Amino acid sequence: MASQNTGLAADVGAEPSALETLVRELFERLGSQPDEAGEIAARLVAANLTGHDSHGVVQAPRYARALHAGELAANVDPEVLADGGAWVHLDARLGFGQHAGAVAMRTGIERARKHGVALVALRRSGHLGRIGDWPEMAAEAGLASLHFVNVTGCVWVAPEGGLAPRLSTNPVAAGVPRANGEHVILDIATSVAAEGKMQVAAQRGEAMPEPAAVDADGRETADPLTIYGERLRDSPALAPDAPGAMLAFGGHKGSGLALISELLGGALTGTGCSRAEPDAASNGMLSLLIDPDRFSGDFDVAGEIERYIAFFTSSAPRTAGGEVLIPGEPERRTRRARLTDGIPLPDATWTALQDTARAAGVAEATIAAARRTGA
Ligand code: NAD
Repeated sequence: MASQNTGLAADVGAEPSALETLVRELFERLGSQPDEAGEIAARLVAANLTGHDSHGVVQAPRYARALHAGELAANVDPEVLADGGAWVHLDARLGFGQHAGAVAMRTGIERARKHGVALVALRRSGHLGRIGDWPEMAAEAGLASLHFVNVTGCVWVAPEGGLAPRLSTNPVAAGVPRANGEHVILDIATSVAAEGKMQVAAQRGEAMPEPAAVDADGRETADPLTIYGERLRDSPALAPDAPGAMLAFGGHKGSGLALISELLGGALTGTGCSRAEPDAASNGMLSLLIDPDRFSGDFDVAGEIERYIAFFTSSAPRTAGGEVLIPGEPERRTRRARLTDGIPLPDATWTALQDTARAAGVAEATIAAARRTGA
């Protein structure tokens, strides 16, 4: 089944639309214009709805701290650095990734419709959240897409054969549209585990389900404290300072893909790649958008996609009761369930969100309305 970022046990059930209202009001109070606050809230809650809790509302207090520290800027539109028609270079200038990512995709969609393909290089964006949002947006517009993302200031992953971290968890995402709206959306970090999952396990004193790190002696281990040391227990926000490093998935394959993401998302966009010196956290994203209709000629591309997906999913399940899913399907299922049942939030996430909202002056009634069950 899906390896979703469900994280901690659910202590608080949150009502999705009221949670979105809470987060929107929080960012309005922190200085975002209503449109931007709405984009941030909608995307964070959408990440929770799809099961990727590590990229959901748990990020709101971190964004609030980054705003106060001047590492993130409200109400900043990406600047066009260069425009070649089918390709565009944008500088997000550390504005919110939820806004910058949407501008980059709207630009790419418009250009791909005009030229058949478009390349958008987005430099120095605030956290782009769940990267699957961007191929989803392109797929909704009928476009296939590929996205290579790097993360500055978060050097956690060792390259294949190495002991010390040199890479981030650099996500890669891709989408292929389908007429029925059930798009193929692959959205993966290039590390064995998302860093958020390592942090949660470390805080709980639990092992990871599989080896996800390498220790200072080169041994693969499932112990998340390998990358945090004991200090995490006192300071959950502490970045890994590495007696060891996280592992890339699939050995040389994941490490190679992470390197490509670092170079395309980091160097080619002008964001900059991971470095030894401390660096502000930001995302760089290189996106390629393709209009499948331009390539169809006398061939039924959409029909072939459907024929192949039927063949792919018809593989006999490996385990009794198992099934073969296309990427994107686990998120659709979780979204349907959570829209009905509510969003399970770890108590620590709810408390931090509530405290941040209160400190910003969000009304108690707005906070209370978001909480459906629990503490
Ligand atoms: P993951 O391991 O949960 O994999 C998710 C992908 O695998 C999805 O495309 C999903 O549809 C697919 N999938 C899962 N189970 C499946 C199954 N049984 N059959 C077919 N497909 C299946 O994700 P992850 O690697 O832990 O990444 C989590 C999130 O973290 C992603 O949304 C990623 O974009 C995000 N992330 C963001 C940043 C950033 O800096 N913004 C950095 C790293 C990761």
